Amino acid sequence: MIVEMKRGATQQEVDGVVERAKSLDLEVQLNIGTDKTVVAILGSNTGQISTDLFAVLPGVESTARIMKPYKLASREFKLENSVVSVNGIDIGGPRLIVMAGPCAIESQQQLVDAATAVKQSGALILRGGAFKPRTSPFSFQGLEKVGLELLSKVKEQVGISVVTEVVEPHDVGTVSQHADLLQVGARNMQNFALLTRIGKSKRPVVLKRGFSCTVTEWLTAADYLLARGNSNVILCERGIRTFEDSTRFSLDISSIPVVKRFSHLPVIVDPSHAAGHYALVPSIAKAAIAAGADGLLIEVHPNPKEALVDGLQSLTPSDFARLMKELKPLAESLGRFI
Ligand code: PEP
Ligand code: MN
Repeated sequence: MIVEMKRGATQQEVDGVVERAKSLDLEVQLNIGTDKTVVAILGSNTGQISTDLFAVLPGVESTARIMKPYKLASREFKLENSVVSVNGIDIGGPRLIVMAGPCAIESQQQLVDAATAVKQSGALILRGGAFKPRTSPFSFQGLEKVGLELLSKVKEQVGISVVTEVVEPHDVGTVSQHADLLQVGARNMQNFALLTRIGKSKRPVVLKRGFSCTVTEWLTAADYLLARGNSNVILCERGIRTFEDSTRFSLDISSIPVVKRFSHLPVIVDPSHAAGHYALVPSIAKAAIAAGADGLLIEVHPNPKEALVDGLQSLTPSDFARLMKELKPLAESLGRFI
């Protein structure tokens, strides 16, 4: 249930609503907007509680039930777009944010070369996996702790913010010491223990869409992060499984306007994992921006032929530089910049 306060409602009036909810054993989340405050009343039995219990309280403008399974990620709870700040880089504002780098961290030299190249072309955040959740247990699993340390070193050396994936709930603290932004991979979108732990950490997080999950399931997973008080959630569309096999996954381009319509959260697109082939990445990246994405997550490797993971879908530094140039006028035509 959401309780919308009147414009100019006092703190005491907001507290009155919160206390009423608590007296009924319900949880609350506040959205203190510039204009008005909205209180989300959460709990498994809100369906049995009359909205009138809140409608009569002083300072309340209106009450309504959110009929969707996701509440905190919904536009009903928060009308204005959320902007997530990562080290002063705003994601969800007018500037398109590009995160780029190798699929996996392989060596210091590889990461320095990738970081230097992507930064020079205008990427603001370096990507690189230290923990790689692989479909096969026999595939390279990442450099793990050593990879995290390399990430920290290169971040300092090159002067760039970093995003990396966290796979296990007990690693959230350690990964957060090295990463400005955490990534939850597609295979972990519904790992609720992991989401709950990251929710408590408050560290900005990119939540990738599970490749067999609906947009509703994706936004409901985001609620796990938001419900624990982490409002720094960025969604990432990376393609879903369909009958089509000419690409690795099918990029669900329509999920971007759908997310924008039903949620206030920023959404970026990973064209690399959707495409599975470097030749397709630039077109898919441009389509994503045209559809309203707030940024991109792109795999770039200094030498894709030698990559231990995902070389075929990785751009070379020069391909990436060209794509970034091509994105500029596109962004401007949409009233944005890069
Ligand atoms: C990745 O970004 O390296 C990755 C493993 O992506 P996904 O979780 O989308 O498969
Ligand atoms: Mn990859």
